[in-house]
Amino acid sequence: MTRSKLAVIRLAVLMWLFMGVPGVTGFSGSAVRAMTAEHEWGPFQILGRTIAPGEKLKFELMPGHRFESAYVDMPVFVARGKSPGPALCITSAIHGDEINSVEISRRVFDMVSTREMGGTLVVLPIINRHGFITRQRYTADRQDLNRYFPGNPEGNVTSVLAHHVFTKVIKRCDALIDLHTASFYRHNLPQIRVDLDNDRALEMARHFGAGIILGKPGLRHTLRWEATQAGIPTILYEGGEPNRFQLDEIKLGLEGVLNVMAYLEMLDRPPRYAGPQQIFKKSTWVRVPPGKGGNFFPERELGARVKENELLGTVTDPLTSSRAEIRAPFDAKIIGMSIPQVTLSGFILFDLVKMQSH
Ligand SMILES: [Zn+2]
Repeated sequence: MTRSKLAVIRLAVLMWLFMGVPGVTGFSGSAVRAMTAEHEWGPFQILGRTIAPGEKLKFELMPGHRFESAYVDMPVFVARGKSPGPALCITSAIHGDEINSVEISRRVFDMVSTREMGGTLVVLPIINRHGFITRQRYTADRQDLNRYFPGNPEGNVTSVLAHHVFTKVIKRCDALIDLHTASFYRHNLPQIRVDLDNDRALEMARHFGAGIILGKPGLRHTLRWEATQAGIPTILYEGGEPNRFQLDEIKLGLEGVLNVMAYLEMLDRPPRYAGPQQIFKKSTWVRVPPGKGGNFFPERELGARVKENELLGTVTDPLTSSRAEIRAPFDAKIIGMSIPQVTLSGFILFDLVKMQSH
Protein backbone atom coordinates (compact mmCIF):
# COMPACT_ATOMS: atom_id res chain seq x y z
CA MET A 1 0.00 0.00 0.00
CA THR A 2 1.26 3.47 -0.85
CA ARG A 3 2.03 6.12 1.75
CA SER A 4 -0.78 8.38 0.54
CA LYS A 5 -3.32 5.56 0.73
CA LEU A 6 -2.21 4.86 4.31
CA ALA A 7 -2.59 8.55 5.17
CA VAL A 8 -6.14 8.61 3.78
CA ILE A 9 -7.06 5.49 5.75
CA ARG A 10 -5.57 6.95 8.92
CA LEU A 11 -7.52 10.21 8.53
CA ALA A 12 -10.72 8.26 7.92
CA VAL A 13 -10.16 6.20 11.08
CA LEU A 14 -9.48 9.35 13.10
CA MET A 15 -12.63 11.01 11.75
CA TRP A 16 -14.68 7.93 12.61
CA LEU A 17 -13.22 7.73 16.11
CA PHE A 18 -13.56 11.38 17.01
CA MET A 19 -16.48 12.63 14.96
CA GLY A 20 -18.51 9.83 13.52
CA VAL A 21 -19.85 8.23 16.69
CA PRO A 22 -23.38 9.58 17.23
CA GLY A 23 -23.88 11.34 20.54
CA VAL A 24 -20.18 11.60 21.25
CA THR A 25 -18.81 15.10 21.25
CA GLY A 26 -15.26 13.92 20.57
CA PHE A 27 -12.07 15.87 20.16
CA SER A 28 -12.11 19.22 18.50
CA GLY A 29 -8.70 18.29 17.12
CA SER A 30 -7.16 15.84 14.69
CA ALA A 31 -9.74 15.43 11.95
CA VAL A 32 -11.39 18.68 12.95
CA ARG A 33 -8.06 20.45 12.82
CA ALA A 34 -7.58 19.44 9.23
CA MET A 35 -10.89 20.98 8.36
CA THR A 36 -10.84 24.14 10.48
CA ALA A 37 -9.78 27.29 8.68
CA GLU A 38 -6.73 28.95 10.18
CA HIS A 39 -8.56 32.25 10.70
CA GLU A 40 -11.13 30.63 12.98
CA TRP A 41 -8.44 29.92 15.53
CA GLY A 42 -8.48 32.66 18.15
CA PRO A 43 -7.53 33.13 21.78
CA PHE A 44 -8.36 30.62 24.51
CA GLN A 45 -10.28 31.83 27.52
CA ILE A 46 -10.10 30.08 30.85
CA LEU A 47 -10.38 31.18 34.49
CA GLY A 48 -10.84 34.79 33.44
CA ARG A 49 -7.63 34.81 31.40
CA THR A 50 -7.18 35.17 27.68
CA ILE A 51 -4.31 33.28 26.05
CA ALA A 52 -3.58 34.29 22.46
CA PRO A 53 -2.37 31.84 19.80
CA GLY A 54 1.38 31.44 20.23
CA GLU A 55 1.26 32.46 23.90
CA LYS A 56 2.30 30.60 27.05
CA LEU A 57 0.97 31.76 30.37
CA LYS A 58 1.47 30.70 33.99
CA PHE A 59 -0.99 32.03 36.55
CA GLU A 60 -2.91 31.15 39.70
CA LEU A 61 -6.39 29.66 39.78
CA MET A 62 -7.44 32.30 42.38
CA PRO A 63 -10.70 30.84 43.67
CA GLY A 64 -11.46 33.84 45.94
CA HIS A 65 -10.13 35.89 48.82
CA ARG A 66 -11.35 34.05 51.87
CA PHE A 67 -9.02 32.33 54.33
CA GLU A 68 -9.77 28.90 52.88
CA SER A 69 -9.15 30.07 49.30
CA ALA A 70 -5.43 29.66 49.88
CA TYR A 71 -6.01 25.92 50.32
CA VAL A 72 -7.88 25.72 47.04
CA ASP A 73 -5.55 27.86 44.93
CA MET A 74 -3.04 26.26 42.56
CA PRO A 75 -0.81 27.09 39.58
CA VAL A 76 -2.24 26.82 36.08
CA PHE A 77 -0.11 26.62 32.92
CA VAL A 78 -1.67 27.21 29.50
CA ALA A 79 0.01 27.07 26.08
CA ARG A 80 -2.05 28.09 23.07
CA GLY A 81 -0.71 26.71 19.81
CA LYS A 82 -0.52 28.74 16.61
CA SER A 83 -2.84 26.39 14.77
CA PRO A 84 -6.13 24.63 15.56
CA GLY A 85 -6.28 21.40 17.53
CA PRO A 86 -7.74 19.85 20.67
CA ALA A 87 -7.36 21.04 24.25
CA LEU A 88 -5.28 18.46 26.07
CA CYS A 89 -5.20 18.71 29.86
CA ILE A 90 -2.51 17.27 32.11
CA THR A 91 -3.13 16.89 35.83
CA SER A 92 -0.53 16.04 38.45
CA ALA A 93 -0.16 15.79 42.22
CA ILE A 94 -3.80 15.05 42.94
CA HIS A 95 -1.97 13.05 45.58
CA GLY A 96 0.51 15.61 46.89
CA ASP A 97 3.35 13.14 47.49
CA GLU A 98 3.36 11.74 43.92
CA ILE A 99 6.11 14.06 42.85
CA ASN A 100 7.23 12.27 39.66
CA SER A 101 4.01 13.63 38.15
CA VAL A 102 4.91 17.24 38.99
CA GLU A 103 8.27 16.92 37.25
CA ILE A 104 6.68 15.33 34.16
CA SER A 105 4.21 18.22 33.92
CA ARG A 106 6.95 20.80 34.33
CA ARG A 107 9.10 19.23 31.62
CA VAL A 108 6.22 18.88 29.17
CA PHE A 109 5.21 22.50 29.52
CA ASP A 110 8.77 23.81 29.24
CA MET A 111 9.46 21.61 26.22
CA VAL A 112 6.53 22.49 23.96
CA SER A 113 6.88 25.44 21.64
CA THR A 114 3.63 27.24 20.84
CA ARG A 115 5.09 28.16 17.45
CA GLU A 116 5.19 24.47 16.54
CA MET A 117 2.17 23.30 18.49
CA GLY A 118 -1.44 22.88 17.40
CA GLY A 119 -4.28 23.02 19.90
CA THR A 120 -4.08 23.97 23.54
CA LEU A 121 -2.14 22.45 26.40
CA VAL A 122 -3.60 23.06 29.86
CA VAL A 123 -1.46 21.84 32.75
CA LEU A 124 -2.42 21.72 36.42
CA PRO A 125 1.04 20.81 37.70
CA ILE A 126 0.27 20.76 41.45
CA ILE A 127 -3.44 20.31 42.08
CA ASN A 128 -3.03 19.37 45.72
CA ARG A 129 -0.55 22.12 46.52
CA HIS A 130 -0.86 21.78 50.28
CA GLY A 131 -0.07 18.06 50.00
CA PHE A 132 2.89 18.75 47.73
CA ILE A 133 4.36 21.36 50.08
CA THR A 134 3.91 19.15 53.16
CA ARG A 135 4.84 15.88 51.33
CA GLN A 136 1.42 14.42 52.08
CA ARG A 137 -0.87 12.34 49.89
CA TYR A 138 -4.00 14.03 51.20
CA THR A 139 -5.36 17.57 51.19
CA ALA A 140 -5.23 20.12 54.00
CA ASP A 141 -8.43 18.72 55.50
CA ARG A 142 -7.01 15.19 55.30
CA GLN A 143 -9.10 13.95 52.42
CA ASP A 144 -8.24 11.95 49.31
CA LEU A 145 -8.94 14.51 46.58
CA ASN A 146 -9.38 11.68 44.08
CA ARG A 147 -12.61 10.65 45.80
CA TYR A 148 -14.23 14.08 45.53
CA PHE A 149 -14.81 14.78 41.84
CA PRO A 150 -16.78 16.48 40.36
CA GLY A 151 -16.79 18.40 43.65
CA ASN A 152 -19.25 20.61 45.48
CA PRO A 153 -18.96 24.41 45.80
CA GLU A 154 -20.78 24.24 49.16
CA GLY A 155 -18.77 21.36 50.64
CA ASN A 156 -15.51 21.03 52.56
CA VAL A 157 -12.24 22.48 51.27
CA THR A 158 -11.42 19.34 49.28
CA SER A 159 -14.79 19.27 47.52
CA VAL A 160 -14.54 23.00 46.72
CA LEU A 161 -11.08 22.32 45.25
CA ALA A 162 -12.45 19.45 43.17
CA HIS A 163 -15.33 21.64 42.02
CA HIS A 164 -13.05 24.44 40.78
CA VAL A 165 -10.78 21.99 38.96
CA PHE A 166 -13.58 20.03 37.37
CA THR A 167 -16.00 22.77 36.33
CA LYS A 168 -13.50 25.47 35.37
CA VAL A 169 -10.68 23.43 33.85
CA ILE A 170 -11.46 19.76 33.18
CA LYS A 171 -14.71 20.52 31.37
CA ARG A 172 -12.70 22.64 28.93
CA CYS A 173 -10.56 19.63 27.95
CA ASP A 174 -11.04 17.45 24.88
CA ALA A 175 -8.73 14.83 26.38
CA LEU A 176 -7.06 14.29 29.74
CA ILE A 177 -3.90 12.64 31.02
CA ASP A 178 -3.84 12.23 34.82
CA LEU A 179 -0.37 11.55 36.24
CA HIS A 180 0.21 9.44 39.35
CA THR A 181 2.57 7.06 41.15
CA ALA A 182 1.86 4.21 43.56
CA SER A 183 0.76 5.17 47.07
CA PHE A 184 2.45 4.75 50.46
CA TYR A 185 5.51 2.48 50.50
CA ARG A 186 4.64 0.84 47.21
CA HIS A 187 5.99 1.18 43.70
CA ASN A 188 4.36 0.56 40.35
CA LEU A 189 5.78 -0.49 37.03
CA PRO A 190 4.98 2.24 34.48
CA GLN A 191 1.47 1.53 33.24
CA ILE A 192 -1.59 3.22 31.80
CA ARG A 193 -4.96 2.69 33.45
CA VAL A 194 -7.95 3.21 31.24
CA ASP A 195 -11.54 2.23 30.54
CA LEU A 196 -10.93 -0.44 27.88
CA ASP A 197 -14.45 0.14 26.52
CA ASN A 198 -13.64 3.75 25.66
CA ASP A 199 -12.12 3.55 22.15
CA ARG A 200 -10.71 7.06 22.11
CA ALA A 201 -9.07 6.70 25.51
CA LEU A 202 -7.70 3.28 24.55
CA GLU A 203 -6.06 4.77 21.45
CA MET A 204 -4.44 7.43 23.63
CA ALA A 205 -3.25 4.67 25.96
CA ARG A 206 -1.72 2.71 23.06
CA HIS A 207 0.13 5.73 21.76
CA PHE A 208 1.38 6.78 25.20
CA GLY A 209 3.57 3.70 25.09
CA ALA A 210 4.07 2.86 28.77
CA GLY A 211 4.23 -0.83 27.80
CA ILE A 212 1.36 -1.99 30.00
CA ILE A 213 -2.29 -1.00 29.68
CA LEU A 214 -4.57 -2.02 32.51
CA GLY A 215 -8.37 -2.01 32.30
CA LYS A 216 -9.24 0.09 35.34
CA PRO A 217 -11.86 2.76 34.69
CA GLY A 218 -11.52 4.03 38.26
CA LEU A 219 -14.07 4.33 41.05
CA ARG A 220 -16.90 6.80 41.02
CA HIS A 221 -15.68 10.27 42.12
CA THR A 222 -12.14 9.71 40.83
CA LEU A 223 -11.08 12.30 38.29
CA ARG A 224 -10.71 9.78 35.48
CA TRP A 225 -14.10 8.18 36.03
CA GLU A 226 -15.93 11.52 36.24
CA ALA A 227 -14.05 13.01 33.27
CA THR A 228 -14.83 9.92 31.19
CA GLN A 229 -18.51 10.21 32.17
CA ALA A 230 -18.39 13.85 31.03
CA GLY A 231 -17.30 12.65 27.57
CA ILE A 232 -13.59 13.45 27.99
CA PRO A 233 -11.38 10.49 27.06
CA THR A 234 -8.98 10.06 29.96
CA ILE A 235 -5.92 7.96 30.66
CA LEU A 236 -4.01 7.65 33.90
CA TYR A 237 -0.25 7.13 34.01
CA GLU A 238 1.19 5.33 37.03
CA GLY A 239 4.93 5.23 37.42
CA GLY A 240 7.18 4.69 40.42
CA GLU A 241 6.66 5.49 44.07
CA PRO A 242 5.67 8.57 46.12
CA ASN A 243 8.02 11.18 47.59
CA ARG A 244 10.90 10.33 45.23
CA PHE A 245 12.02 11.63 41.89
CA GLN A 246 12.72 8.68 39.59
CA LEU A 247 14.25 9.68 36.29
CA ASP A 248 13.27 6.59 34.29
CA GLU A 249 9.60 6.95 35.22
CA ILE A 250 9.74 10.72 34.62
CA LYS A 251 11.32 10.33 31.16
CA LEU A 252 8.84 7.63 30.19
CA GLY A 253 5.96 9.83 31.35
CA LEU A 254 7.31 12.83 29.45
CA GLU A 255 7.78 10.84 26.26
CA GLY A 256 4.32 9.31 26.68
CA VAL A 257 2.62 12.70 26.93
CA LEU A 258 4.51 13.92 23.84
CA ASN A 259 3.49 10.71 22.02
CA VAL A 260 -0.17 11.39 22.80
CA MET A 261 0.23 15.00 21.65
CA ALA A 262 1.72 13.76 18.38
CA TYR A 263 -1.11 11.27 18.00
CA LEU A 264 -3.63 14.10 18.51
CA GLU A 265 -1.67 16.05 15.85
CA MET A 266 -0.79 18.76 18.34
CA LEU A 267 2.91 18.34 17.64
CA ASP A 268 4.39 18.56 14.21
CA ARG A 269 6.15 15.25 14.27
CA PRO A 270 4.97 11.85 13.17
CA PRO A 271 3.26 9.94 15.97
CA ARG A 272 5.84 7.63 17.48
CA TYR A 273 3.60 4.63 17.77
CA ALA A 274 5.04 2.74 20.66
CA GLY A 275 4.44 -0.70 19.21
CA PRO A 276 2.27 -3.41 20.68
CA GLN A 277 1.29 -2.80 24.26
CA GLN A 278 0.43 -5.50 26.72
CA ILE A 279 -3.25 -5.05 27.57
CA PHE A 280 -4.72 -6.63 30.71
CA LYS A 281 -8.38 -6.56 31.67
CA LYS A 282 -7.57 -6.54 35.36
CA SER A 283 -4.91 -7.07 37.99
CA THR A 284 -4.96 -9.11 41.19
CA TRP A 285 -3.71 -8.04 44.58
CA VAL A 286 -1.84 -10.51 46.75
CA ARG A 287 -2.23 -9.60 50.41
CA VAL A 288 -0.80 -10.55 53.80
CA PRO A 289 -2.86 -13.57 54.96
CA PRO A 290 -5.10 -13.02 58.03
CA GLY A 291 -3.11 -13.17 61.28
CA LYS A 292 0.24 -13.30 59.45
CA GLY A 293 1.35 -9.67 59.73
CA GLY A 294 5.02 -8.88 60.33
CA ASN A 295 8.24 -7.99 58.55
CA PHE A 296 7.87 -8.19 54.78
CA PHE A 297 10.78 -9.01 52.52
CA PRO A 298 10.26 -9.51 48.78
CA GLU A 299 12.04 -12.29 46.90
CA ARG A 300 11.25 -10.98 43.43
CA GLU A 301 11.53 -7.55 41.83
CA LEU A 302 9.08 -5.24 40.20
CA GLY A 303 8.49 -6.26 36.58
CA ALA A 304 9.51 -9.91 37.16
CA ARG A 305 7.72 -12.76 35.40
CA VAL A 306 6.82 -15.44 37.90
CA LYS A 307 5.38 -18.93 37.68
CA GLU A 308 2.39 -20.24 39.56
CA ASN A 309 3.34 -21.08 43.16
CA GLU A 310 6.71 -19.33 42.90
CA LEU A 311 7.88 -17.62 46.10
CA LEU A 312 7.20 -13.85 45.87
CA GLY A 313 8.22 -12.88 49.38
CA THR A 314 7.98 -13.65 53.08
CA VAL A 315 6.31 -12.06 56.10
CA THR A 316 7.89 -12.93 59.44
CA ASP A 317 6.32 -12.28 62.83
CA PRO A 318 8.96 -10.28 64.76
CA LEU A 319 7.96 -11.90 68.07
CA THR A 320 7.42 -15.55 67.20
CA SER A 321 9.62 -15.75 64.07
CA SER A 322 6.81 -17.66 62.40
CA ARG A 323 7.18 -17.08 58.67
CA ALA A 324 4.44 -16.88 56.02
CA GLU A 325 5.47 -17.60 52.45
CA ILE A 326 3.74 -15.47 49.84
CA ARG A 327 3.40 -17.38 46.56
CA ALA A 328 2.13 -16.51 43.10
CA PRO A 329 -1.48 -17.70 42.59
CA PHE A 330 -0.87 -18.04 38.81
CA ASP A 331 1.72 -17.36 36.09
CA ALA A 332 2.09 -13.61 36.39
CA LYS A 333 4.01 -10.41 35.92
CA ILE A 334 4.55 -8.15 38.93
CA ILE A 335 3.29 -4.68 38.02
CA GLY A 336 3.16 -3.25 41.53
CA MET A 337 4.57 -4.18 44.93
CA SER A 338 5.33 -3.01 48.46
CA ILE A 339 8.82 -2.04 49.51
CA PRO A 340 10.21 -3.99 52.53
CA GLN A 341 8.27 -2.82 55.58
CA VAL A 342 6.23 -3.89 58.58
CA THR A 343 2.87 -5.14 57.32
CA LEU A 344 -0.48 -6.09 58.84
CA SER A 345 -3.13 -8.65 57.83
CA GLY A 346 -4.73 -7.75 54.50
CA PHE A 347 -1.90 -5.41 53.44
CA ILE A 348 -1.35 -5.38 49.68
CA LEU A 349 2.05 -6.89 48.92
CA PHE A 350 1.94 -7.50 45.15
CA ASP A 351 -0.18 -6.40 42.18
CA LEU A 352 -0.14 -9.12 39.52
CA VAL A 353 -1.37 -9.48 35.97
CA LYS A 354 -2.01 -12.92 34.55
CA MET A 355 0.39 -14.17 31.87
CA GLN A 356 -0.14 -17.09 29.54
CA SER A 357 1.65 -20.22 30.71
CA HIS A 358 4.96 -20.80 28.95
ZN1 LIG B 1 -2.20 8.94 42.93
